[in-house]
Amino acid sequence: MSENQHPITFRELAGLDLSRLKSVGSGKRKEAFEKFGIENLADLLTHYPRRWIDRTREASVGELAEGLDALVVAEVRSVQSSPRGRGPQRVNVVVGDDTGTLSVVFFNQGWRERQLAPGSLVALHGRVSSFRGRLQMANPTVDVLGDPGERPRPIVAVYPQSEKIDLPSWVVRRAIDETLSRCRQRGLSDPVPVEIRERYSLVPRHEALYDLHLPETFAAKEAARRRLAFDELLRVQLVLVMRKRVMERDQLGIAHRIGGPLVRRFLDTLPYRLTDAQVRVIGEIERDLADARPMHRLLQGDVGAGKTLVAVEAMLVAVDGGHQGALMAPTEVLAEQHASGVSRLLDGLRIPDPDNLFGERAVRVELLTNRVTGERRREVLAGLADGSVDIVIGTHALIQEGVEFSSLGVVVIDEQHRFGVEQRAALRDKGGEGGRAPDVLVMTATPIPRTAAMTVYGDLDVSILDQKPPGRTPIVTRHAVGPLGSSEVWADVRERVADGRQAYVVCPLIEESEKLEVASAEETKARLESGELAGLRIGLLHGRMPSADKESVMDAFREGRLDVLVATTVIEVGVDVPNATAMVILDADRFGIAQLHQLRGRVGRGSHESVCWLVTSPADEATPGLVAEMGPRIEALVSSDDGFFLAEADLELRGEGTLMNKEQKGRSDLKLASLRRDRELVEIAREAAFAIVDTDVTLSDHLELKDELSLFLRPEDEKFLFKS
Ligand code: ADP
Ligand code: MG
Repeated sequence: MSENQHPITFRELAGLDLSRLKSVGSGKRKEAFEKFGIENLADLLTHYPRRWIDRTREASVGELAEGLDALVVAEVRSVQSSPRGRGPQRVNVVVGDDTGTLSVVFFNQGWRERQLAPGSLVALHGRVSSFRGRLQMANPTVDVLGDPGERPRPIVAVYPQSEKIDLPSWVVRRAIDETLSRCRQRGLSDPVPVEIRERYSLVPRHEALYDLHLPETFAAKEAARRRLAFDELLRVQLVLVMRKRVMERDQLGIAHRIGGPLVRRFLDTLPYRLTDAQVRVIGEIERDLADARPMHRLLQGDVGAGKTLVAVEAMLVAVDGGHQGALMAPTEVLAEQHASGVSRLLDGLRIPDPDNLFGERAVRVELLTNRVTGERRREVLAGLADGSVDIVIGTHALIQEGVEFSSLGVVVIDEQHRFGVEQRAALRDKGGEGGRAPDVLVMTATPIPRTAAMTVYGDLDVSILDQKPPGRTPIVTRHAVGPLGSSEVWADVRERVADGRQAYVVCPLIEESEKLEVASAEETKARLESGELAGLRIGLLHGRMPSADKESVMDAFREGRLDVLVATTVIEVGVDVPNATAMVILDADRFGIAQLHQLRGRVGRGSHESVCWLVTSPADEATPGLVAEMGPRIEALVSSDDGFFLAEADLELRGEGTLMNKEQKGRSDLKLASLRRDRELVEIAREAAFAIVDTDVTLSDHLELKDELSLFLRPEDEKFLFKS
């Protein structure tokens, strides 16, 4: 390698071609690596093992028995391919060790004949069966462990395999071994400052890479994994934290005045006391508002935790100082509900106004969606531009061309996950006076675990509303089995309706087709009308109905002219009818935890006890009523009503997939780290990122770290990190 004597950086390794390695060369081997996406020595060292085999604990052939799911390491003795003819092609292999032999058969995998050279050592993983009185494994997974010359190791790393690419694990191991030994003289550079490595007990990078690929003990391998997973998480956090700090540095916001007359009147006339959590969160928000740096804060709170009140308080702080507030919701229905809810909350509230004959005027709240048209729209737009509209509530219509604010001071965005970062930025750009950025509060009713929030929303500060207003009757959640639910479910609904209450019935989610979903809702309504719920007044609500029809159905339900509302998931967010005390979710196992929790949040809004029935189909249609397995998701819902607990459970069950889609996950920088398993590491990485960035915002004293960021995070990765 080169003459320079400083330790070797990843950037340098990334510039070295695989043909540098004697064990690879520039022929077929190199091609095989390249097909795996391994082009240079940095790619090679970060091509991590899929698993590790503990050679000290493996089964010997003599210990195998029929029915066992076994891992066995043995030598290939013979390979024989059946002649092509009728039936599937077979490759018969005999493997053995000191204790005996085992026959292994592969169907339709002719290439195994080339892969399994007699004399090579292989690890086979599969179910042991018996064929004509002999033990055998059929189509096991195979790892070629080594060429016969390889030094025996206590732990053997196994790399991802592909049947199309001939790149056995021992070839990868040998290439990595060669790379690391040839780096030994100069050593591999470690870009993470030594104080940070010491503070968090992280092993040096060179050692970590060696111990991950070629470990002597499992403890060493674990320490190595921890260190390298930390590096991945640190890179992610550095980007987020830098972005946050740069925004804070470069954007000039409004230093709002706290404790103005309007806010005081508003809080004094509330018919209830704020919860402790609301007091705390309002304090956190007010501190940001008072600061000249613009706020970028995420407000997480379960359904019903009282986020609206917090949002309104923040907007009133702006109004108090002569600025405006805007609340953006993801759908027209939600925007309309927010508008009427906020208007109600502010009803009678007056704002001091010296220009007015009476010295004050009412706070003006307006709605702006694409449904607001003609003269009405012109009035609202004029009011926004001249400052006479104090608070505007709307959809993405708010960020369209032609919407001008006099002085936008606070922006609240509801249901963040439906908006991209671009929209957040667009609303921010509608700016306050003199180009000052408004303060932004993002609200979400979908709690996500703390460490995940740090990654997905890592450029925002987070406030958590983790307490619900008192006086709520808890929701009882029950599981029922049956094609349309057991009679118990419908008897309960009838009883509640007889008592004057109302119920929702949510129809199965059909992801592939909204048309089918609607059909199933219509069918369910018809079946219930002529069967289990005959005689009740039943309405239908789904996404394909014209808006006016949706409105009139919702009005009828709200006003009690309907007993039961059969709906698709359109009722997931925002619908608020306190008299509805039963929710029946059909085929509940088709929904995710978060969605079930959202749906359940539609009940339990009044003083009457509410129930949520989660209905699943019997495992065996022929014997309805048979107790079916609840499944872990339903079980979680039945056992808890705490959104944060459920978010943790969801992450536990489904992994990162709940937070990032597959494509994002595939492209993100997290190969070793897992947001689920490595929570402590996420926290540590974030802490370390702040420690580094707060003394060096542009990383100009940490050039190697900075360089690694651009090496590892491609532009689209960066973009992903900032999308949420
Ligand atoms: P979220 O938006 O978090 O789902 P909301 O803001 O809609 O919750 O509040 C749910 C209900 O609780 C509303 O009817 C609201 O008036 C009421 N509420 C909010 N804060 C309190 C409080 N401190 N005490 C009593 N009721 C409250
Ligand atoms: Mg501010």
